[in-house]
Amino acid sequence: MKRIVYWFRNDLRLHDNEGFTRAVQQADEVLPVFVFDPKLFDELPDLGFRKTGIFRANFLIECVADLRRNLRNRGAHLIVRVGNPATVLAELAQQIGASAIYASKEVTSEETDMESSLSKRLKPQNIDLELFWQSTLYHVRDLPFAIAQLPDVFSQFRNQVERRAKVRSTFEDPVRVRLVPEVDPGDMPSITTFGFPGEMKTDIRRAVPFKGGETVALERLESYLWEKELIKTYKETRNGLVGENYSSKFSAWLAHGCLSPRLIYEEVMRYEAERVKNDSTYWLIFELIWRDFFRFVALRFGDRLFKASGIKHDIQKRWRRDNDLFIRWAEGETGIPFIDANMRELAQTGFMSNRGRQNVGSFLVKDLGIDWTWGAAWFESLLVDYDPCSNWGNWNYTAGVGNDPREDRYFNIYSQATRYDEKGAFVKHWLPELTQVPAQKVHLVSALNRREQEEFGVALGDTYPMPIINPGKWLKR
Ligand SMILES: Cc1cc2nc3c(=O)[nH]c(=O)nc-3n(C[C@H](O)[C@H](O)[C@H](O)COP(=O)(O)OP(=O)(O)OC[C@H]3O[C@@H](n4cnc5c(N)ncnc54)[C@H](O)[C@@H]3O)c2cc1C
Repeated sequence: MKRIVYWFRNDLRLHDNEGFTRAVQQADEVLPVFVFDPKLFDELPDLGFRKTGIFRANFLIECVADLRRNLRNRGAHLIVRVGNPATVLAELAQQIGASAIYASKEVTSEETDMESSLSKRLKPQNIDLELFWQSTLYHVRDLPFAIAQLPDVFSQFRNQVERRAKVRSTFEDPVRVRLVPEVDPGDMPSITTFGFPGEMKTDIRRAVPFKGGETVALERLESYLWEKELIKTYKETRNGLVGENYSSKFSAWLAHGCLSPRLIYEEVMRYEAERVKNDSTYWLIFELIWRDFFRFVALRFGDRLFKASGIKHDIQKRWRRDNDLFIRWAEGETGIPFIDANMRELAQTGFMSNRGRQNVGSFLVKDLGIDWTWGAAWFESLLVDYDPCSNWGNWNYTAGVGNDPREDRYFNIYSQATRYDEKGAFVKHWLPELTQVPAQKVHLVSALNRREQEEFGVALGDTYPMPIINPGKWLKR
């Protein structure tokens, strides 16, 4: 009797899940397990906020609950535990006499340390650990270069993979799973298990009502491509700021593995064949290649990704560690409406558009000179779509310590705001105190004179903060 434990990690899906499919094919009985590691919810000692905040904690619980339901529909169950994954899994594997644990392969150190720790515990029991690469569009083994030769410039990477590699086909979902009997399935934790208050409140102004799990992820894919056909205009709308339609919003499901990038790829190919093929349909794939790029960058550069000196190993650059300024940024109290609107959206919903992320990132590091790793840690805590490679990789670029010299850009916040939020609808959405300010003045409220402030119902320094830097410099450029 061959038994395999399948350890679900950031691959919380049944579709296109090579590791799980192989476990089901190769074993007589499988034990699917998810372990919540309480360490992920701890407070960061230097920064005073949690590593994983309430939005992602809640989303993760929803993902696991959905996976449990989907496994039940296939005659199985998901065993759920709270604890150190390496310890819990090794014990379970031993308890059921498993010959192996299968799981997906991760690339960043906290995750690979957990793999090593598990492997160490399994070796003396003659239990194998087999890891499957399954989070990218292009499989690591299909890259036309060794990881050590990964191109520094994204466009070179993209050209090479597009010309010389093929996206592998998706795996079929397992129809029936034979479960190892008589293992206590365990209760699902709730956010209170990890010390969060009773219920999660999200702001109704949110861009999209993110709900965790493969079921909703597949519905979003269906709706974005086939029902609403939003993909047809993605390239034109993707810099939007308000609402659920301007971009795919696949990120949170991709980050938790509820959605496979290869499934998106296959669906886009089918859409192109059956409906329309244009720059927009391609551009969604283009963005998924960025996602791949950051994962391979993490694989190549290891822990440099998380250090202030960055991938570039720039030890000359000095960063400010001004706690007060950082808090004003984090809480959306900088007095720069475009920054504050984005930061309040993040704090109140766990999401921010790509345009917003680039601007608030540039503002923190280039205008305030604050240590970019603080900004990355804040994003890590709040983002529902947090992914270590995409987050820390993008922050490396924002801070100018990345590996692609072309990606060290400065954002003039005022021109970005007037270009992407011409009518001020986005800032007014998140800063209701500025509702009456006319569109042509709302991105520079600090220039309002006393009479205008009275007329538009704003009192600078009272109902809306004075700016923490002089925005005048953006007008001269
Ligand atoms: C400072 C900073 C931090 C970021 N942190 C994260 C993060 O933690 N997790 C994350 O998924 N994305 C991150 N991004 C990338 C990007 O902002 C989000 O992927 C995107 O906004 C998510 O919305 P969407 O799914 O609607 O994207 P779409 O525009 O619809 O793009 C489709 C998919 O392509 C991928 N993608 C798009 N842009 C990027 C990019 N620049 N880098 C990597 N992948 C990309 C995402 O998986 C996304 O879901 C970050 C960007 C910046 C500038």
